[in-house]
Amino acid sequence: MINFFLIAILFFLQFGQAKEISITIDDPEVKETPLFDSKKRNQEILKALDAHQVKAALFVCGMRIDNAEGKDLLKSWDQKGHLIGNHTYSHLYFHSDRNSLEVFKSDFLKVEVLIKDLKNFSRIFRFPYLKEGNTNEKRDGMRAFLKEHKYQHGYVRYTSGGGKHRVGFGETAG
Ligand SMILES: [Zn+2]
Repeated sequence: MINFFLIAILFFLQFGQAKEISITIDDPEVKETPLFDSKKRNQEILKALDAHQVKAALFVCGMRIDNAEGKDLLKSWDQKGHLIGNHTYSHLYFHSDRNSLEVFKSDFLKVEVLIKDLKNFSRIFRFPYLKEGNTNEKRDGMRAFLKEHKYQHGYVRYTSGGGKHRVGFGETAG
């Protein structure tokens, strides 16, 4: 397991002369790393985003921030105006037969209680490992569940061509 924030995406969208940047970050956590302690590391990331006037979307895995320090981390992102999204509580691998639709749904709801009161809580969801289910029942069940809970699918969609790169949130493709 990577012992650091996973900085997922950095792309440019070009509309005429204007450039737009989207950054999404998964799995914030409060572990020590050789270079910085978690607080310092978090401050440095926030500072860098501020310096470039970029707002990010943070996909939160509950088990990594379910303590006092983790709550402080979320607050600091929230106060800076970054979107806070759901990335399940336990980072389950949805393609495993051990992780049924029901197990996955309850794991999803478990993180929502940790983030729903934040000002910038946003109904965006990213599947751990980007795995959307290894059976039709799981895939369709989760799509219906996300719709019912009014979530957008924070999938990583990257297309490139004609000099354009894009990534974004959107409805689950049909
Ligand atoms: Zn993840």
